[in-house]
Amino acid sequence: MKRVLVLGLDGADPALCRRWMDDGALPNLRALAAAGALLPLESVTPPATFPAWTSCVTGVNPGRHGVFDFTEMVPGRYAVRFVNGSFRRAPAVWDMLSRAGRRVVVAGVPATWPPEPVNGLMLSGFDSPVATSVDASFVYPRARAAEAAGWRFADFQEGRIGPGWHAEALRRLLLGIEEKERILLNWVRSEPWDFFMSVFGESDTVSHHFWMFHDPQSPRYPGPNPFSDAIRDVYARLDAAVGRIVEAAGPDTLVIVVSDHGFTGAGITVVHLNNRLAEMGLLRYLPGGGRDSLLKRLGLSVVPERARGALFRRLRGVAGGAESRSRFGGLDWANTRAYSEELGYFPSVRVNLQGREPQGTVAPEDYEAFVAELCACLREWDVVADAVPRAKLYSGAHVDRAPDVVLSLKAESGYAPVCVRARGGGALRKLTEAEYPGGKERGMNGVHRNPGVLVTNRSVAGGPAGPSLLDITPTVLSALGVPGPEMEGRPLFAPGMGTGGAPPADGGDGGAHPYSPEEEALLEERLRSLGYLE
Ligand SMILES: [Zn+2]
Repeated sequence: MKRVLVLGLDGADPALCRRWMDDGALPNLRALAAAGALLPLESVTPPATFPAWTSCVTGVNPGRHGVFDFTEMVPGRYAVRFVNGSFRRAPAVWDMLSRAGRRVVVAGVPATWPPEPVNGLMLSGFDSPVATSVDASFVYPRARAAEAAGWRFADFQEGRIGPGWHAEALRRLLLGIEEKERILLNWVRSEPWDFFMSVFGESDTVSHHFWMFHDPQSPRYPGPNPFSDAIRDVYARLDAAVGRIVEAAGPDTLVIVVSDHGFTGAGITVVHLNNRLAEMGLLRYLPGGGRDSLLKRLGLSVVPERARGALFRRLRGVAGGAESRSRFGGLDWANTRAYSEELGYFPSVRVNLQGREPQGTVAPEDYEAFVAELCACLREWDVVADAVPRAKLYSGAHVDRAPDVVLSLKAESGYAPVCVRARGGGALRKLTEAEYPGGKERGMNGVHRNPGVLVTNRSVAGGPAGPSLLDITPTVLSALGVPGPEMEGRPLFAPGMGTGGAPPADGGDGGAHPYSPEEEALLEERLRSLGYLE
């Protein structure tokens, strides 16, 4: 095999791929698997888009590449900042290939903004802070940006999920795949490349918003409805794109179709982690809470809901920290020992640690014992499957970017509870039927799960452990005969053919390119519409 083509289908689930390959809806994936394999692919914790794709393109765990989420805590503050490709602390597969003189095309991989000076072409992922795709800043080299015209960054956006929203979102998702396919086909055919990688996000977005419509077993299923095939239709459209791109790539191409995580349905149990910590006596709220303080401070509480979006866009500099205020507002820090960011896809708890948090209450010498006790107490709660200190999950120089305690929640008949932000009230509640579609304060109706999927046109060597997302980069390097640094993943096709060569690059904090407040505000809007923020 002379070249390697990696096509990412964000959030594609192995069970759905198998089912729809069997019933004929995904003929191109079926043909690839018939020549090679379809396997579940172990993801990372959390099985979320940024850490998972970053592990895929580096071959190392988040403790080494440093990307745990699409945000990270700002040192010394109760605030988060949005991360991007410049926060990655391990070399990516395209760095190693470029340095070895191989030609690469990389398009739409999440957490790759700003575009990197590769030996070839790079179009950044949806973390690009561009309002529309006619902005050259997301393409390297910039002079090639015109060829990317039409590339969409989740433009179905905006506002509340209500009548007509789903039909329009589905239409735009299908259109987005068509536009990307056109741009990619042009590059597959006209660029000289050894390595070509692109990620489609549409499979993730459709699963977040349409799961309840397609799954009759879901406790949120509304009965027969016009969107029961929405996820299947997006998978089928992606399968057609995969087929055309693979054909254009030609013979002698190693094809690796991969997802960063799978999907399952959300249940109707809502978990409010901070309320639980308050019940445990570890957290206290300020009187009156802080949830709407920004709106109140700006005197916007009387602004009609529909006008707020426009107003916020005009006040971007002010609104840029809205996510921080939503996560950390309303807490009485002097009386709080542990707190949660209450992220739906990453249930976790942080210690309010002296010397790290601005108003820390737990002394550094008590940290280990406090964390152990916190884990033990959280495990006693019947919705918690496990609670573990971060050191059990991660290794490397950047483990300290992770939350102190990582939880997994117990699914009910396969449907995951949703972790949602609250200030006060009970720790558990059930959604009402009107809340089933999800959205603000309700979670999404489809949620990530581990594993993702691997479909390839070459048979995978068996082993005691199944393939992992961390194996993709070593596999690509091995197939192209390029040595890489020491990685945790292993090549999938050639047992014994290790990498090894340069020592691991595990840098400090230099080189990060944080977003401006304006860019942050734009990303907040996009992430909200994609279903990441609530
Ligand atoms: Zn994803």
